[in-house]
Parts: sequence; C-alpha cells; structure tokens
Amino acid sequence: MVFTFTSVRPPPPQKPPEPPDDQHRDYSRSNEDTIKVSFRDKVLGTKMHAVKEKVDLIANNMAKIELVQVVKLLGKNLGYNTMKNKLENIWKLMGGIELMDVGNAFYMVKFDGEEDKNKVINEGPWMIYDRYLTVRQWTPNFNASTAKIDKTMAWIRIPSLNLVFYDESVLWAIASMVGNPIKVDLQTLKVARGRFARMCVEVDLTKPVVGRVGINGEWYQVQYEGLHIICTHCGCYGHLMKDCAPPTKQSVTDVHDSGRKNE
Ligand SMILES: [Zn+2]
Repeated sequence: MVFTFTSVRPPPPQKPPEPPDDQHRDYSRSNEDTIKVSFRDKVLGTKMHAVKEKVDLIANNMAKIELVQVVKLLGKNLGYNTMKNKLENIWKLMGGIELMDVGNAFYMVKFDGEEDKNKVINEGPWMIYDRYLTVRQWTPNFNASTAKIDKTMAWIRIPSLNLVFYDESVLWAIASMVGNPIKVDLQTLKVARGRFARMCVEVDLTKPVVGRVGINGEWYQVQYEGLHIICTHCGCYGHLMKDCAPPTKQSVTDVHDSGRKNE
C-alpha cells in the first residue's frame, strides 16, 4: 500500500548560515553573492524555474492534504480491515480510499477526489455499529495520542411532540436549543415516523448534554441516538454514573476507548 500523503510536510525554514564573527561580517561580499546571476541562469531562467517548481510542489501537497481526513468511531475501536470494509460500505464512494491506522483509534483517510471527500463531510452523520463516526480535516500537526473528540454530530429525538410543531423552522429552533442544528429528518417532516421528531445536531461532548427542552411551557425529553454512554448524574457523554468525576478532569477520548478493542 502506498501512502503518498505521509511524505507531505511543510519545507523546513531556510536559515542562512551564521557568520563566524558578526563584527567582521563582509556585507559587500554577501550582497555581491545575492546579486550575482550567471548568464546561463539569465537565459534559461533556471532559478526562477526552480522556485516555480517548489511552489507547484507545495501547492500540490496542500491539495493532497485537503483530501486527507481523520476519522474515529466514538466508543468503539475497530481493527484496520473491519474499519476499511465498514467505511467503504457506508460511504459508497466513486473512487477508492487509502486508510492508515495512526493510533488511539484514529484513522487517516485519503480520498481519490474532492467529490468523495465532500460527500463524506456533507452527508453525515455516519454510523457504524450504531456509533458515530467523527470526521475532521487532517493537519500536519495532528497528534493522535493527544487529540480529543470534543464534538460530534448526533441524531436527537423528541418523543410525544405535538403535531403542530412538525414544521421545519420549528424543529430547527428546537434543535438549536440542544446544539448546533445540522438538519431535520425529512421523514419527520412527512410525519411518517409519527411518534417522534428527529433532528441532527452537533453536540458539544465537553458539556453535559441537554436532557429536555421547554416549548410553550411544556417540557419534552431529548433522546440521543447512538450516544450510548451518558452519565445520569452529570449528564456528560463518555462515562457511567458510577465512574462520574468532575467533567473537567474527565478525558473524553480516554473514556471512549476504555471499552472494547479491535473487533
Ligand atoms: Zn458523570
């Protein structure tokens, strides 16, 4: 397997060599060096050509970086082959993907093209084994051992919601009380599901999740699909009541991975 993106790094900063003795620096000579251009360079423009090549290379590498995302399944650590099969099954992309296990249950994914990458970013939330797959842009300073998942997209349900509230703008407003609203389940709008309204929101996992919302003086319970470990004491995702500690000391990522390994 070839991972072209592993070699993608910003070039090291070009540092001029320090003069041995600053007081006796020969400025006239260094100026002469920078001005001196050979005839061959003037004619062929090789220096300019080299610079242009370098810029092209960096731009090209940046474009490749754009196609690399980091994914992690919340609360479950999948082995390489299972992860690859599952991703290919749920995403159904036009091109292929290259996958690399970068540790701590994080995987780097390189897409063949922009279209596939955009599909993955825009058509979420993606779920594997009823758990959310978090997707984020990879950057060269990404560190799997210290990276934390502090938010995820999640489907929420409001059971027993009066039918008068089944309107896109109303459901959107309700979703915004729970988190950053992403979309409303179209089946909900058609009232085909009947018993509950369903919206997708971005949930901040570093804070207690919203347990209920008040609409016109009535309280409605908020249910979270796929977030299986919500503490009934503090309301935070990632641990059970018996393991409850002040949320600031709780490492969300560590807790996610304390469960099952490599299936
Ligand atoms: Zn707790």
